[in-house]
Amino acid sequence: MEVQTLKYPAIRNYVAGHSVDNASTVTMDVFSPLNGQLISTLPLSNAAALDAAVQAAKAAYPAWAATPIKERVQIFYRYKTLLERDMTALADLVREENGKTYDEARAEVEKAIELTEFACSLPQLIQGEFLEVSKGVEARAERKPLGVVASIAPFNFPNMVPHWTIPNAIVLGNTMILKPSEQVPLSAIKIAELLKEAGLPDGVLNVVNGDREIVEAICDHSDIQAVSFVGSTKIAKTVYIRATSNLKRCVALGGAKNHLMVLPDAHPEMTASNVAASMSGCAGQRCMAGSTMVGVGAVDGIVAKIVEEARKIVAGQNLGSVISKEAKERIEQHITEAEAAGAKVLLDGRHAVVPGHEDGYYVGATVIDFVTPDMRIAQEEVFGPVLAIMRTNTLDEALAIENANPYGNAAAVFTSSGSSARYVMDHANAGMIGINIGVPVPREPFSFGGWGDSKFGACDITGKSSIEFWTQLKKTTTKWNPESRVNWMS
Ligand code: NAD
Repeated sequence: MEVQTLKYPAIRNYVAGHSVDNASTVTMDVFSPLNGQLISTLPLSNAAALDAAVQAAKAAYPAWAATPIKERVQIFYRYKTLLERDMTALADLVREENGKTYDEARAEVEKAIELTEFACSLPQLIQGEFLEVSKGVEARAERKPLGVVASIAPFNFPNMVPHWTIPNAIVLGNTMILKPSEQVPLSAIKIAELLKEAGLPDGVLNVVNGDREIVEAICDHSDIQAVSFVGSTKIAKTVYIRATSNLKRCVALGGAKNHLMVLPDAHPEMTASNVAASMSGCAGQRCMAGSTMVGVGAVDGIVAKIVEEARKIVAGQNLGSVISKEAKERIEQHITEAEAAGAKVLLDGRHAVVPGHEDGYYVGATVIDFVTPDMRIAQEEVFGPVLAIMRTNTLDEALAIENANPYGNAAAVFTSSGSSARYVMDHANAGMIGINIGVPVPREPFSFGGWGDSKFGACDITGKSSIEFWTQLKKTTTKWNPESRVNWMS
């Protein structure tokens, strides 16, 4: 029998600083969406494999938590230089497993560096509080880590999303289990290896591969104190319910349907290039994608320019692939259904073929006009390079459409009117708002997180808000002077 050599060796779990065999013999194939080729395999871990990782994280916790934060961040300063050193290799890995263009993959690693920089600033942000609360009696509040925590990631940002959680949670003194998406398991192992090279003690970060079984085991494991999740709304809900019913902290980010409201007074060229980039960047596979535009009033000229811009986005050149054959079929089905329901396809990306990559999973940039709010394409997350345009007469009608959608990740308005922009800031029902910005990701130190069905849980996942999530407050009241009297609170 012919033995096929894979481009990447079979993925193994990473526990206590070492690559380890999995207790489970069940494996899954990993394909590159760029060309449909089998590139590796990964283990579908079971609860026993998770437990081994949790025990390693638990063993590493006391020493790590006792290490002063100013020492903990030194490892992340070194790690940042390693990300910079290995930028090209890391971007290549993202490109290969996820299908992004090289520039998009590189931008993802650059964002990982920014997230690491923020974590390095945490000693400056988490000083405690202190007050003499009565004569000779002092109270102080300090932020302490939680213990072993877990981070569950989606396929669409194999490098960036793990960095939403790893640097902050670990700098704040926790030890972690990372569960990458089974569709993109390559980057996570490389991240763990680089952190070890930077000096992270064994067991502080562990990587366990798998799918549903391992996610459920994370929610149920009694030694895991907190769970962060990023993925689709359906799974985010089940993870949030399961983790919190096991009395863990949980923040679970879900899917999105982001509305870009375009007013007639918007700058035509700037709007067209921003809208086209927002819907098609990362092949539309990002939770911040502006997948839905609401044109208010006379915007035909701007729509024509958007189509012009979208034509310049070419699959295999400046447009990457989508993640799988199933994703390609699902996206194309959305386009076909919208057309059958009466929408007008102005630019059709169905059946895109990239010469030399005929087996890759590509969908071309697509613009569909005269979509109505009742169509499936206006309601569901398409997660492909597709812009669905709806039309209204007034901004209030546009906001009513935006407000009615159950998600609440992002919304944006394109206008040259300050008062219209302010009106959208006040009335859009989303956690992240863009004014003439198609992808309004709040960069560090601001925190990332949506509303509604786009996020379950109290804190945001990055930035200052995440400090609350990854720590608990210890309050100490102190008296050293015996002459200080016992008062009503003592
Ligand atoms: P997904 O929900 O299919 O998978 C996410 C994680 O859940 C993966 O690690 C996967 O192994 C696990 N999982 C899958 N099925 C499961 C099940 N039945 N039970 C328990 N765990 C399960 O999401 P995806 O397809 O990998 O990622 C795309 C989705 O993620 C989109 O909806 C996108 O909007 C969303 N996303 C949201 C944000 C955000 O910030 N809100 C960011 C990135 C991605």
